[in-house]
Amino acid sequence: MIEENILKINKDLPPQTRLIAVSKTKPVEMLQEAYDAGQRLFGENKALEMRDKHEALPKDIEWHFIGHLQTNKVKYIAPFVRMIHSIDSLPLLQTVEKEAVKHERCIDCLLQFHIATEETKFGLDLNEARQLLESAEYKAMQHVRICGVMGMATNTDDMDLVHREFATLHGIFETLKKDYFSGSEAFREISMGMSHDYKIAVEEGSTLVRVGSSIFGARNY
Ligand SMILES: *Cc1c(COP(=O)(O)O)cnc(C)c1O
Repeated sequence: MIEENILKINKDLPPQTRLIAVSKTKPVEMLQEAYDAGQRLFGENKALEMRDKHEALPKDIEWHFIGHLQTNKVKYIAPFVRMIHSIDSLPLLQTVEKEAVKHERCIDCLLQFHIATEETKFGLDLNEARQLLESAEYKAMQHVRICGVMGMATNTDDMDLVHREFATLHGIFETLKKDYFSGSEAFREISMGMSHDYKIAVEEGSTLVRVGSSIFGARNY
């Protein structure tokens, strides 16, 4: 089933959009099955769970951290994480920089934006992102690379609202590209779209969709 699901979702994706298999809460056997079907990008939202799965699974997997990240957990993923999608404060980015230095690597990051109407979802607004990008602390960083933006739409059946929220995130991406990253080839990712809304996200220009339950089945917490 996992292989079929991955094939089916990939058929919906244009060549510039990559699939992240969101494997949080799922056992390594299921991730291995996805790996055997050719999947290489995996998304997790808990640092220790990601570290343990990284240890257990093939080393050519790209690990994408997609959940809220506490500064005291960055150290567990800093040695290997491929991209952190959830940068929502300067202190968090400073911690990623510090941990990346320890491992002599550069860690790719996305700025997470609050685009949904729900109160509870984490993320910056455009002004907060400008403050971060204009800070002396950010400008001094040598071991993090900001590669784009990430956001989650409202969990709703109102597909017009979801379209508008993803379009807003695309607009934020274009604004930041123009004002801060016009010379950066690396700044090119728009991480948006989950199981129920990835097709809309693709229509609005997503480059990374994060799909969990449509690949691995519903999660029981
Ligand atoms: C869990 C999660 C997903 C995947 O959700 P599904 O609805 O299972 O596809 C995507 N993005 C984030 C940030 C998540 O936490």
